Amino acid sequence: MAEDSIAVVDLEKCQPDRCNYECANFCPPNRTGKECIITRGERFEEGEPYRGTEDQVWISEEICLGESCGICVDKCPFDAIRILNLPQELDEEPVHRYGENSFALYGLPAPQEGQVTGILGPNGIGKTTAVRVLADELAPNLGRIGDEPDWDEILDTYRGTALQGYLEAMRDGDVTVARKPQYVDRIPDQFDGETRQLLERTDERDVVDDLVQRLGIAPVVDQDIDTLSGGELQRVALAATLARDADFYFLDEITPYLDISQRMAAARLIRDLAADEGRSMLVVEHDLAILDLLADAIHIGYGSPGAFGVIPPPKSVKNGINEYLAGYLENENMR
Ligand code: SF4
Ligand code: SF4
Repeated sequence: MAEDSIAVVDLEKCQPDRCNYECANFCPPNRTGKECIITRGERFEEGEPYRGTEDQVWISEEICLGESCGICVDKCPFDAIRILNLPQELDEEPVHRYGENSFALYGLPAPQEGQVTGILGPNGIGKTTAVRVLADELAPNLGRIGDEPDWDEILDTYRGTALQGYLEAMRDGDVTVARKPQYVDRIPDQFDGETRQLLERTDERDVVDDLVQRLGIAPVVDQDIDTLSGGELQRVALAATLARDADFYFLDEITPYLDISQRMAAARLIRDLAADEGRSMLVVEHDLAILDLLADAIHIGYGSPGAFGVIPPPKSVKNGINEYLAGYLENENMR
């Protein structure tokens, strides 16, 4: 038994019709009669919902011997399996899993009232998942697939933590949020019309004209959204988000496509909104200089992209960036 390991099956890669179930046939527990690797058809009851097809495999994380075995990883001809030990310091249950044997997120950032909180870390470790949970777009399942927790259970899990108040307010509908999505190039698929129309629709604070000036997008407000460049879309998305009247703003990557002066203008806007109006900002960002300029505190996420991610408690911006650059998170004892 290896409770501190995680098994991930990539359903895009698992092709039972093109292999001989080498993973299951060579798995040591299977060879002693245990059901460590079985098909999903065997794992789930008839009518029970599950991801993948009935002939794709499911791995028992209870029975699996962990990363030190790894035989199935080596035997699978399509690299469909990952078995990874979780960090020893991680003594918590996941916030969310997308399904059995799929990505797991541990820990959530804690947005602070009137402050800018940054999240830094590699792609694929769940930063956007964390933002979607806090923006009330994704109900956290605490890793319990098929036995999803209700709000009371979720709140029990976070009682006594920095997130308790936020989650209670979220449950009671007492918190308003605005989120800027990561992929601004998808905006033209969701909105058809002039830039001005999009901005006016979100202008709950009557500030769009000021935002348009400060972000330098006045020349494009009369253009159709689908004619804008990536940099213009990024700034329009930021203006549309910041124009909303929200308690918490979740900004998923603000710098892609922007040059340095545009980045600085965006950073100043966000800072001003937090400092002058007491709004709370959570910013996922890769640009260290911008985070240094923007943030009051920073979460340094880590993990194994696509398999698991950890969002540990926040650090001071200076310490966080220094540890990130040094490649060693001191409190987490992680490289
Ligand atoms: S994980 Fe690999 S070896 Fe196992 S069934 Fe899928 S493709 Fe075959
Ligand atoms: S790593 Fe786990 S699932 Fe894979 S062969 Fe070993 S015991 Fe079986």
